[in-house]
Amino acid sequence: MILLGTKNWHKVREVQAMLKEHGQRAVPAVGLPDVEETGATFQQNAALKALAYAEFCSGAVLSDDSGLVVPALDGEPGVRSSRYAGEEATDEQNLQLLLQRIRERELHEPEAAFVCSLALALPGEMLCEVEGRVEGRIVDTPRGQNGFGYDPVFFHPQSGCVFAELEPEQKNRVSHRAVALQALAGRLPDLLDRL
Ligand code: IMP
Repeated sequence: MILLGTKNWHKVREVQAMLKEHGQRAVPAVGLPDVEETGATFQQNAALKALAYAEFCSGAVLSDDSGLVVPALDGEPGVRSSRYAGEEATDEQNLQLLLQRIRERELHEPEAAFVCSLALALPGEMLCEVEGRVEGRIVDTPRGQNGFGYDPVFFHPQSGCVFAELEPEQKNRVSHRAVALQALAGRLPDLLDRL
């Protein structure tokens, strides 16, 4: 069993569903302390959360850090994706700020990537770090009813629609988290006796 070191229920559901397909039971860790995301990269933030939570839970914890990168905006929102418009910003406020920045720079459907870094740690020991990435474009008008965060503006060419127009199972097959979990799944057999 793997403890999930995230407080985001959207992510918990996505990761649980995907790990189940790999025969792994994952439960969200409760009462996790706040860990400041001071890393400069998704990987650094995933690692510092996994190590801190593993210490707190005295067991194996899988943590992630993820977000949206728009190269034409110098990589924004990047590691600040969840607090782009401010520490307490809502998904809608973050998304509107992104569209505003794109309009200010007069960009048309700029290229973007969702990135997900996963870190699986034991207390005091990093077991595995992987990264998943999915490429797309940012459309100028939000659409779709599903997902969260920047899903309403992230157009995924292979799917022919924005992520918010995909059913959860469809998004779970192609998302940055799916790519990262696939990489993790490949490494799990070697790690199982440590969990
Ligand atoms: P984290 O909780 O620090 O990893 O921040 C993740 C933030 O990145 C979320 O709050 C969203 O704004 C954005 N994000 C990450 N993954 C997704 C996704 O699958 N869809 C939409 N937005 C995402």
